[in-house]
Amino acid sequence: MTGDNSSREAVLRAFLAEHDEPCPGCGYSLLGIATSVCPECGHELELTLRREQPAPRWYTVGLVGVAAAVGFHWGVLPVALMFGSTAVFRFLPSAAVALLALVWWTRGKRRMAALSVPVRSGLVSLALSLPFLLFAMTFVVVVFFDAL
Ligand SMILES: [Zn+2]
Repeated sequence: MTGDNSSREAVLRAFLAEHDEPCPGCGYSLLGIATSVCPECGHELELTLRREQPAPRWYTVGLVGVAAAVGFHWGVLPVALMFGSTAVFRFLPSAAVALLALVWWTRGKRRMAALSVPVRSGLVSLALSLPFLLFAMTFVVVVFFDAL
């Protein structure tokens, strides 16, 4: 089997008929295009094989932030319980947000991999600052409860 250009183009078109991939040149959606040239920027396209990438570091770094948020904000619940059940309610919102963030982070790995580097870096920064953002949120909740 030799991959002459027309069969490679046919495979590329068949792939893009079913996969919404961004143009590597400009990011334009190539879903369903009928040529092997990006209609937006004119970048020549080809379907290639490459070795699987090692697990991306950005994912692990962000996971550390989100896991730390879960650790801190769930860890404080038993301590709050010692001060009575009403104290626990003040810490539940941040614990819930931390848990949701952890679920979102672990389930969104593939979707996040498709994001541009600046957007992904922003999400990693947000994940790393999550424990502190949630401390601020808890502070606001405590002040709000005490104002009632
Ligand atoms: Zn393009």
